[in-house]
Amino acid sequence: MRITDLEVLRLEVNRRGDWLFVRLATDAGLTGLGEASHGGPGPARDAIVAAILKRHCLPALRGRDPRAVRAAVAALQPLADGLAGATAVSACEQALWDLAGQAAGLPVYRLLGGPVRERIPLYANINRATDDRTPEGFARNAAAAAAEGFRAVKLAPFDGIDRAQVRDREGRERVRHGLACVAAVRAAVGKAVDVLVDCHSRLDLPTAVAVARELQALEVTWFEEPVPTADLNALARLRPLVHDLGMELIGGERLYGVGGYWPYLAAGVWDLIMPDVKHCGGIGAMLAIAAAAEARGVAVAPHNPSGPVANIASAQVAAALPGLRALEYAWGEAPWRAGALVPAERIEVGELVLPPGPGLGIALDEALLAARQDRRTAP
Ligand SMILES: [Mg+2]
Repeated sequence: MRITDLEVLRLEVNRRGDWLFVRLATDAGLTGLGEASHGGPGPARDAIVAAILKRHCLPALRGRDPRAVRAAVAALQPLADGLAGATAVSACEQALWDLAGQAAGLPVYRLLGGPVRERIPLYANINRATDDRTPEGFARNAAAAAAEGFRAVKLAPFDGIDRAQVRDREGRERVRHGLACVAAVRAAVGKAVDVLVDCHSRLDLPTAVAVARELQALEVTWFEEPVPTADLNALARLRPLVHDLGMELIGGERLYGVGGYWPYLAAGVWDLIMPDVKHCGGIGAMLAIAAAAEARGVAVAPHNPSGPVANIASAQVAAALPGLRALEYAWGEAPWRAGALVPAERIEVGELVLPPGPGLGIALDEALLAARQDRRTAP
């Protein structure tokens, strides 16, 4: 079996952006899927990722046997430079596993040595679905997710904060508003549901400490990315303070490969890491990163505010990870989401049910693809 072509498919979702998928074709008639969404800032990001896929990844893959996943990934490795390149390579890597699994007649999680579990615990990220950024808006969606059976909800309530001015009057007001949103969510879901807070790197060190104290009072223990990931020194100073409050410091959603995570694991700054199958190098890379994390006593909750293909690719790894905490799920982002896949994405009481088929076990729904495909920047 040889790779013959690579298609880039872009699906219109909402004002926060589209989903970008890769489909590898082979001379055996099998096709393999991967997801390359969110590969950079700004509206041009999908076009940049698509260009890397078509101009660089396809020539590196054409003529290769996709069943030799590691050899093909090694050929792609030089392209994984920067977030857009890492995203393009990660998408191809997922598609290679999909093809290898189909060729073997086995789900990917079985090729990885799983399953440890066949239903994947999810947490609901309500952030992308929450257009009403008031405490009531967040609380409404948190309550809806909890009513569907999700045992944890995540929000990123610190909008519009410039870290350099976070202690100015306006910055303090925005921090207060964010904390009010968290308080409303806690009141809406009660004590039986975990509330997870993502700070999107918007805080400085003193504000992060102050916010952590407020969150502790709201019984939040998940404290995600309060300061920039690049600032290892600030993370190292923050870690003991966060621990003294009985909270976990969480980060690492856009790093690539074991090498990207290693400085943080070696410094021991995180309690839990969030490799993203779309950016970290893909399925095999996430498995390796998780093994390195396990060696340092660090848990894994894959970052996945993504489309349905990345969701299934992440779930295949999650099924094979003993140290899994939970998989992120982009709750409520698009009402037609489940039907974008054949078989449809299946979520029951806050758990993803893995599709039974070989490879990733999914195809894109062609009718939905035809209706929603965004061809404006299709390469
Ligand atoms: Mg985050």
